[in-house]
Amino acid sequence: MTTRATEGDGVSAEAGAQVLVVEDEPQMRKFVKIALASRGYRVIEAESAREALQHATAYAPEIVLLDLGLPDGDGLSVVEAIREWSKVPIIVLSARGSEESKVLALDAGADDYLTKPFGVPELLARIRVALRHAAVTKDTGESSVTIGPDITVDLLKRVVRRRGEEVHLTPIEYKLLVTLVKHAGMVITHRQLLEHVWGPGSSERVEYLRVYMTQLRGKLEDKPAQPKYLRTELGVGYRLKVED
Ligand code: CA
Repeated sequence: MTTRATEGDGVSAEAGAQVLVVEDEPQMRKFVKIALASRGYRVIEAESAREALQHATAYAPEIVLLDLGLPDGDGLSVVEAIREWSKVPIIVLSARGSEESKVLALDAGADDYLTKPFGVPELLARIRVALRHAAVTKDTGESSVTIGPDITVDLLKRVVRRRGEEVHLTPIEYKLLVTLVKHAGMVITHRQLLEHVWGPGSSERVEYLRVYMTQLRGKLEDKPAQPKYLRTELGVGYRLKVED
């Protein structure tokens, strides 16, 4: 296989991707810029919401890292504006304790978030997942997905197997799993899951989610109380953890 051929030289497979970093704190911006540039990413910087939108249109970056607290407005308005014309992956950079603004940004179309302070490996992993997700969404060809070494989901036959054995899921459990699989590695909010699985108008029924998530963990996880794959993102939603 040649897919990992570039790993050895320290440059990521997505090397060369253009990243728009929107952050008003110079130190934070510098930290992110150095981390990304050293891995071969090309970095464009913006310090305000206005500049973010200008650069997003002028450069059409492959991914956007967006601080929510900007001097001339909040990042939420930037997410909303970009989503009017672009599906570019957006990763929100948020301060600890700002769950609400984070959730609003995700519901408005941001793809993931990182809570400050975060480390370089975490930042790079999130970017890789988001870029890969954007690439997969484009060609749609995938019919079978592997979750960890022992769970496979055949999206064509609608069959889930764990260590080779078929797992029987209810239609809701299956829909929930597939929604998570389609966003593998990225966070998905309570509202998004509820609307995907139960339909519009169900976004307040977080208790449904808890019940079905517990059932799904019971069927797929070795230790349902300490899930390896079906992770809770406290106050936000869930994330299907995938091997990087
Ligand atoms: Ca800020």
